[in-house]
Amino acid sequence: MNDTHILIVGAGPTGLACALELSRRGLKPRIIDKGSDFTPEAESRALGVNNRTLQLLAPSGVSAQLLAQGVKAKRVRMRNEKGRDVIKAGFDHPGALYPFVLILPQGRTERILAAALRQYGVEIEWYKEVIATNGNPKKPVLDINAPDGLESIRASKVIGADGASSVIRNGFGFSFAGESYPTEFGLVDVETVEPFATDELFVDFSNDGVLARMPLGGNVCRYISPRADISNMLPKDLEIKHLIWQSSFHINFRYVEKMQRGSVFLAGDAAHIHSPVGARGMNLGIEDACWLAWMIHQNTDADYSKMRMPQVRMVIKQTRQQTDALLNLGGFGRFARDHLANTLLKIPAFKKRALTRVTGLDTPEPPWIDGSV
Ligand SMILES: Cc1cc2nc3c(=O)[nH]c(=O)nc-3n(C[C@H](O)[C@H](O)[C@H](O)COP(=O)(O)OP(=O)(O)OC[C@H]3O[C@@H](n4cnc5c(N)ncnc54)[C@H](O)[C@@H]3O)c2cc1C
Repeated sequence: MNDTHILIVGAGPTGLACALELSRRGLKPRIIDKGSDFTPEAESRALGVNNRTLQLLAPSGVSAQLLAQGVKAKRVRMRNEKGRDVIKAGFDHPGALYPFVLILPQGRTERILAAALRQYGVEIEWYKEVIATNGNPKKPVLDINAPDGLESIRASKVIGADGASSVIRNGFGFSFAGESYPTEFGLVDVETVEPFATDELFVDFSNDGVLARMPLGGNVCRYISPRADISNMLPKDLEIKHLIWQSSFHINFRYVEKMQRGSVFLAGDAAHIHSPVGARGMNLGIEDACWLAWMIHQNTDADYSKMRMPQVRMVIKQTRQQTDALLNLGGFGRFARDHLANTLLKIPAFKKRALTRVTGLDTPEPPWIDGSV
């Protein structure tokens, strides 16, 4: 039996951010992952890095790296079923920390986080899979399948950042209620022959459904649609030079009842999953991670669940409303989009309210940022 103070299970964006924020405060967690490497860079997955995440990862120096490597989407443009541009709005609302949404493949974000973590002497222990727990959150013990045999770890604190199918969540008896949607989203990352606007998010409504385009740098972009047969949704005149990655996925809206039991904490997709509309998944997980690390350092981690659950519920509610609106845009929704939205977005207070969601600044301000602890 090995004793460890803090054990983080999962080296995705959430686990890495938590390990980094603990390490920079002088704590030395162990971080294990059943995989062998980071998310491949060609599989873009979570692309949108919002203002809140950039604020949270600034003290570690990670945000400077993200900003240097990412693409800055400065505005959103929406076209209606008649081919008319109906919404054009910048992300530069009063109060925004950065007047853009940063776009970066998830694997690149993970590598930047891991490089910062390495500076504190913490290395990810790959090929280590939690296969069982003792089910006792007050004195957690994990059984781990490691390359050199089975290992049992008794930890003072276990942080489950092991994604949507979390073994930690299931092993320590957390509920994960919610709903699965029948809709299957399709996405494809392509390099195009012709250039396109690389500083905008473009959403195209047609009678066949909705298709969004996000710039990934150069002539590379992602198309995403709530239709699995996304190839049929792409513009007819689009010339593809290189198909980089294609995927489809079902969406779920689920979250735990609480994010902590005894000495076991959940963060990121292990605690909450929702649709990619609004690009909040990875950002919310990084935010959980940063708050948890700060609260552990402050010795206030007993309040972690109480602090984070309202944010989780709020984001799930918002993404669900946004997803439902996108999937079933009725007559009034179309009217508002085509005739009201652009005018309203010219009013600073309205624009600020609308864009706080995009920027992620609708969650509580982290109190440690100015003091830099
Ligand atoms: C197609 C797609 C597009 C998306 N777009 C966006 C977006 O634009 N913006 C956004 O914010 N989010 C987006 N998301 C969501 C985002 O990818 C997730 O929210 C994010 O990856 C969650 O990070 P995480 O670290 O919590 O979990 P994960 O990234 O799932 O990491 C969990 C880690 O735990 C490890 N693990 C699992 N089980 C075990 C075990 N038993 N033992 C040891 N290790 C284990 C896994 O190997 C993995 O490395 C998107 C998701 C998809 C699928």
